[in-house]
Amino acid sequence: MTITDAPRGVRTSAPSAIESALAQFDRAANHLALAPHTRAILRVPKREWTVNFPVTMDDGRTEVFTGYRVQHNVARGPAKGGLRFHPATDLEEVRALAMWMTWKCALVNVPFGGAKGGVTVDPRALSVGELQHVTRRFATELQGVIGPDVDIPAPDVGTNAQTMAWIMDTVSMHAGYTVPGVVTGKPIGLGGSEGRADATGMGVMFTAERALAEAGIDINGATVAVQGFGNVGEAAARLIHERGGRLVAITDVGGGVANPAGFDPARLAAHLAETGTIAGAPGTEPIDNAGLLAMDVDLLVLAALEGQVTAANADRIRARVVAEGANGPVTPDADPILAERGVITVPDILCNAGGVVVSYFEWVQNLQSFAWPAEQVAARLRRVINVAYDDVASLRAAEGIDARLAAHAIAVSRVADATQIRGQYP
Ligand code: NAD
Repeated sequence: MTITDAPRGVRTSAPSAIESALAQFDRAANHLALAPHTRAILRVPKREWTVNFPVTMDDGRTEVFTGYRVQHNVARGPAKGGLRFHPATDLEEVRALAMWMTWKCALVNVPFGGAKGGVTVDPRALSVGELQHVTRRFATELQGVIGPDVDIPAPDVGTNAQTMAWIMDTVSMHAGYTVPGVVTGKPIGLGGSEGRADATGMGVMFTAERALAEAGIDINGATVAVQGFGNVGEAAARLIHERGGRLVAITDVGGGVANPAGFDPARLAAHLAETGTIAGAPGTEPIDNAGLLAMDVDLLVLAALEGQVTAANADRIRARVVAEGANGPVTPDADPILAERGVITVPDILCNAGGVVVSYFEWVQNLQSFAWPAEQVAARLRRVINVAYDDVASLRAAEGIDARLAAHAIAVSRVADATQIRGQYP
């Protein structure tokens, strides 16, 4: 069916990330009866950059790459958000992710605004040397744009602690002194925080545990399916497994594995390290994303990319709880279908906020030249996530609204208040 054949009001494709982000914002803004001028300010990014830059590849060719950085809002503090290296990354996607970062930081009440960035590249197709050159040149293009007081990147899809180390080093070379606070998610030896690598997965585990409890299910013994086995998915799977959850299916970009008896994520991680995918791990049956999403499980963790559960497949979800480890994995047109089916969704800006909370801890530790032990990081993370979960649960109960709207309403109102109190310059 083409767009023109579509009956009026029926979409032929899932909403894009920016369409989802704007629909969620508009819904919250309507709910809050936000003043038109505040709505106009918050609906668009404050600043955005597109940079095209050349890199010499291993074979001597020069390739030109395109990168982006979008600062959606800085009313509550410096901009904060990850850097994504992915072939589908474009300005619109980065705008959506930057807006979600603004709401996420506000919801967990850390003093940051929202940003996101990325390079349109498949990092798996580059050598380590090429990846380092792309990263360092991109960091150079962002000179003056990023910095500990302005905008602090972190890892996201396709980037990791090594990427952050290269950025930190590049910025430090230009400054003439070491600038640890310019990025978070660094290796611990370079001022990274204990607990940052697992922080997003840990937040997923904390929030999923609470949502399961709302459904009367103990995480110990719950059946769990996970989409994505990267930074977020692997940590979430491992920590849920440690709490007694039974992992029955996991997919990644190379395929998927299932075993009704459950499996040990450490074995999958070993297979991934050896082969580049979890698919084909010994003692497992193959499964694809469609099969994983339709599984009758207590908990479905979505930890890959956006737009996975849409109006087209939401009626196949049989999980009791859907935890959005990824950003935007459930589209707004799927939300009411899940709600009708009694599925409890833990919205992304709450579910995956553990990463930015510990990023905030890392930034604070860097500014103080001080390092907290792992137990302190985990305890503080749990406290912050629990407060945010309670805030969302209270508003849901008080106003009879769903968790997504409650989370966005809290976040948008905090940013709107900050905007209002600061006033308009000049
Ligand atoms: P990552 O690159 O480490 O992992 C992504 C995972 O998704 C990989 O296992 C990959 O194989 C898998 N994947 C890709 N395409 C897939 C497909 N079609 N089907 C199944 N699996 C697929 O990225 P990440 O950092 O884990 O981020 C995952 C999501 O979580 C993203 O939406 C990201 O924005 C969000 N997020 C990440 C963090 C963080 O701290 N890294 C924090 C908050 C939110």
